[in-house]
Amino acid sequence: MIKCPECGFINLDASKPCSDCGLDLIDALRRMPDEEKQKLYVKGSPREPVIKGVQKVIIKDFDMPFGSMILFMFKWGLAAIPAIIMLTALVVFALLLITGALTSVSK
Ligand SMILES: [Zn+2]
Repeated sequence: MIKCPECGFINLDASKPCSDCGLDLIDALRRMPDEEKQKLYVKGSPREPVIKGVQKVIIKDFDMPFGSMILFMFKWGLAAIPAIIMLTALVVFALLLITGALTSVSK
């Protein structure tokens, strides 16, 4: 992995332009003294990219057994119950507030 001398972004591959600012890393390294170059190389597994900012995740497919899918949906339904109760309470409270306000105005 190599750190961009321009913006500091840690790039996985020095053979490509910087993923953040687009600086030509090969060209930048060529013009740099050796001691400076050494500082830019970052130790770490290339399989673990450094997360910077928001990363986009696209799910194309997921493998889930049918049984656990049913269980998941059942749990989902169960988890929705308190939300429904809370929403209902909120609506009832709002209605009471509105009707209460109206009756006090009419008096
Ligand atoms: Zn850069």
